[in-house]
Amino acid sequence: MKKIANRNREKGIQNYRFIIQTLFALLCVWIGIEFYLFTNYLKSGGSSAFHSRPAGVDGFLPISSLMSFYLFLKTGEIHPAHPAGLFIFLAIVLMSIVFGKSFCSWLCPVGYISELIGDFGEKVIYRLFHKKITLPKYIDYPLRSLKYLLLGFFVYSIFFLMTISSVRAFLDSPYNQAADLKMYYFFADISRLALIVIGSLFLLSVFIRNFWCRFLCPYGALLGLISFLSPTRIQRNPVSCIDCGLCYKACPSGIKVDKAKTVLSDECTSCLSCIDACPVADTLNLKFLVTKNKISKKSIAIGVVSIFMVVTGIGMISGHWQNDITKKEYLIHYRNMNSYGHPTGTEAIQKLNKESDSMILYQPEVNKTNDYMKKTEILKTKK
Ligand code: SF4
Ligand code: SF4
Repeated sequence: MKKIANRNREKGIQNYRFIIQTLFALLCVWIGIEFYLFTNYLKSGGSSAFHSRPAGVDGFLPISSLMSFYLFLKTGEIHPAHPAGLFIFLAIVLMSIVFGKSFCSWLCPVGYISELIGDFGEKVIYRLFHKKITLPKYIDYPLRSLKYLLLGFFVYSIFFLMTISSVRAFLDSPYNQAADLKMYYFFADISRLALIVIGSLFLLSVFIRNFWCRFLCPYGALLGLISFLSPTRIQRNPVSCIDCGLCYKACPSGIKVDKAKTVLSDECTSCLSCIDACPVADTLNLKFLVTKNKISKKSIAIGVVSIFMVVTGIGMISGHWQNDITKKEYLIHYRNMNSYGHPTGTEAIQKLNKESDSMILYQPEVNKTNDYMKKTEILKTKK
């Protein structure tokens, strides 16, 4: 039996997808290098040449972005600590509304790496067992729910437990301001435990395609839910379909495309692999759900990249891209970041709600968005 590749290289669109994913991953590497040079400046205590901080690093702070989004929804305010994160988040949400969970298979660097590992794993497994490994439903479904539990935890904590003043207090806090530094050093000075966890995820992804994305990524869970709003869907014409099952075999998300008339799944990433695997012309297509008009495959590539560039471009042009944390404040954060904490658990959040509400009631001068350092005590928790 001939092996079905998830990415059919004979089809131009899969090559475009690969190029877009690679360029986006290289952009992330570039951001990482720029941020490394910025940390060198901080490490020198400000004595070496200054290297500016790349704002795109905000895109790697999804919790902070989700909180900024909540603040933006409630007040219309764009928080100045990590504004680029909010615009990147808005771009990803918008592309999910238009093209489903397309971020995962077109731009996300983790999705890209998972896909490469999955391709490698499938080659090895196919050579050994001459078939794909698929988890039985009774294991797959409970595991898939884990990412929703993680998402539910974050959404409940931010949208239901925190008051708007405590969200603002968190965003103003030194913990959030230094979140980029903390995230960087989490990977740069990686602990043995974190290395074991990442290594295990890597190994599991070799045997189970997209292990992280499929079971654990709360961002993917959010985009999967948002994707139900999308007016576009993969649709199969049951009349011309010859029931060969090649679309199912090509689907990296294991969706039974060959049995569906319309793919309605939170796992569909609009990768188009199923369409490219179908041997019968005009049988599988991406279409508008209501009008049934066909959407060309190139439109997704152009659409996804355009949405990302336009929304982040609006952030840049409107002056909401670079944060306004000064060099001096970053140098202070660099020295003190290990002492910064965040509220953990319901009680700590309620305490933060109380403290931040009373600060707003009794100390209105503290609520100046640029006056970060006055608020440093709010989230400084004892380790
Ligand atoms: S259904 Fe098609 S477009 Fe959706 S994930 Fe599977 S292969 Fe990709
Ligand atoms: S690949 Fe095409 S013909 Fe084969 S089962 Fe899927 S939709 Fe039908």
